[in-house]
Amino acid sequence: MANNDDQFKKVISHAKEYGYVFQSSEVYDGLSAVYDYAQNGVELKKNIRDYWWKAMVQMNENIVGIDAAIFMHPTTWKASGHVDAFNDPLIDNKDSKKRYRADVLIEDYCAKIEAKIEKEVKKAEKRFGDAFNKDEFISTNGRVLGYQEKINTILSRMGKSLENEDLADVKALIEELEIADPLSGSKNWTDVKQFNLMFGTKLGASADSAMDLYLRPETAQGIFVNFLNVQKTGRMKIPFGIAQTGKAFRNEIVARQFIFRMREFEQMEMQFFIKPGTQTEWFKYWKEHRLKWHLSLGLGEDNYRFHDHEKLAHYADAATDIEFKFPFGFKELEGIHSRTDFDLKQHEEHSGKKLQYFDHEVNESYTPYVLETSIGLDRMFLAVFSNSLVEEELENNTTRTVLKLPAVLAPVKAAILPLVRKDEALVKLSKEIIEDLKWDFSVAYDEKDAVGRRYRRQDANGTPFCITVDGESLEDNTVTIRHRDTMEQQRVKIEDLKSIIKKEVDVKEWLMRM
Ligand code: ATP
Repeated sequence: MANNDDQFKKVISHAKEYGYVFQSSEVYDGLSAVYDYAQNGVELKKNIRDYWWKAMVQMNENIVGIDAAIFMHPTTWKASGHVDAFNDPLIDNKDSKKRYRADVLIEDYCAKIEAKIEKEVKKAEKRFGDAFNKDEFISTNGRVLGYQEKINTILSRMGKSLENEDLADVKALIEELEIADPLSGSKNWTDVKQFNLMFGTKLGASADSAMDLYLRPETAQGIFVNFLNVQKTGRMKIPFGIAQTGKAFRNEIVARQFIFRMREFEQMEMQFFIKPGTQTEWFKYWKEHRLKWHLSLGLGEDNYRFHDHEKLAHYADAATDIEFKFPFGFKELEGIHSRTDFDLKQHEEHSGKKLQYFDHEVNESYTPYVLETSIGLDRMFLAVFSNSLVEEELENNTTRTVLKLPAVLAPVKAAILPLVRKDEALVKLSKEIIEDLKWDFSVAYDEKDAVGRRYRRQDANGTPFCITVDGESLEDNTVTIRHRDTMEQQRVKIEDLKSIIKKEVDVKEWLMRM
């Protein structure tokens, strides 16, 4: 596909055309950075959520799930630090009147320098051929080292300024780097201001007694405040985890990247409660374990990288992002944070209730440390969907659009196609096959158009199997099964369909790759 912008546009239009993602309230021209999942999208999203839940909760006897409410007591957000510190630095361009996140402008500037490094690497790769050693080249080439140093200097200055709330210096940095508004090219900037990302609302009927609330900006706090309830009622012993999936809301300053950055989105989070002092080893464990989960889906090892944080959030003593190569470059997909005892201590202080664990092994109480894994379900959806959308050149000089979703996640596992729709016996047998398969898999019936066009339609829809029922099927109970990725066709017995499909779509088969 031509370039990344084109690829991203194709992803967005394909998501709409095939019933995956719609703009919210489209009849009213949409609502910015809010999206609806359509008939196929809801299935893909559910399958991703299930894949995560199975790996995190069902497969670990020391991890349990909860489903906390979106509304929480307002003091929660005072304790967690969100009221005072959940801010992004914003800057406006005076000419275009466009608003930006100041840190993102600077990071995008660095991404351009990084692209230059990539270019140097590609050039050298071509020059040296098989003898090329990328790691050595990156660590010794003068030009590359110069670029890297520039990036490090910029990011570390930005990190320090943000940490010290020195917003004037963030603006100075933007001016020194001569960063222009990407849309208008103007360098006429306002001062940088802090902007709190939480959405406020009210609880209660009468104006005077109404209580100010926030829509939760993360699901994690619902886990912290339930820590003791779960520990006691579940008789959980440290180390143990609590997992949850659910909606979170952030009034993002700029949200122009489809479902990558939304104002209403879903998170899948797990807080792992551990003994203080063991956080380094658990951080390493969850870093590796979560990467393995991603790799099990087969989207390509080169599409992932870790980004260890130098600038740490107020609650963390170590943090890393798993970044994925989206059509617009490597960006955060999941965060893994060593949160110390910050949250539990804060809730103890603000609630006046003890949130400690009595450890029978050492006969003492302590506030556990927490290791968190936090992934955006919508970002994961975008990662899977954008990576799967390919246009393939075929041997006969035609192309086909295929959505090569991992079969375990595909919304529809098999489409059943009677070769001729007017043939009642074929239709009847097709429906019988559906009646049988639908207990185990989500299946679809497709009778319109010539069978070749139906194959293409199902390819673009991401359906791993097409099952064609023809005249021969009536005589010998066999059908043709076609595989989406290889386009290979096999004649198989109807009674074998279930096991053939199961082998390819079974969660166990996929998770065993971890
Ligand atoms: P970013 O730096 O991209 O704003 P973040 O560091 O604020 O993300 P976290 O607070 O660590 O994100 O949230 C955990 C995960 O939730 C992220 O890794 C991401 O996958 C997801 N997420 C965060 N904000 C959004 C959003 N606005 N839309 C969709 N997903 C989001």
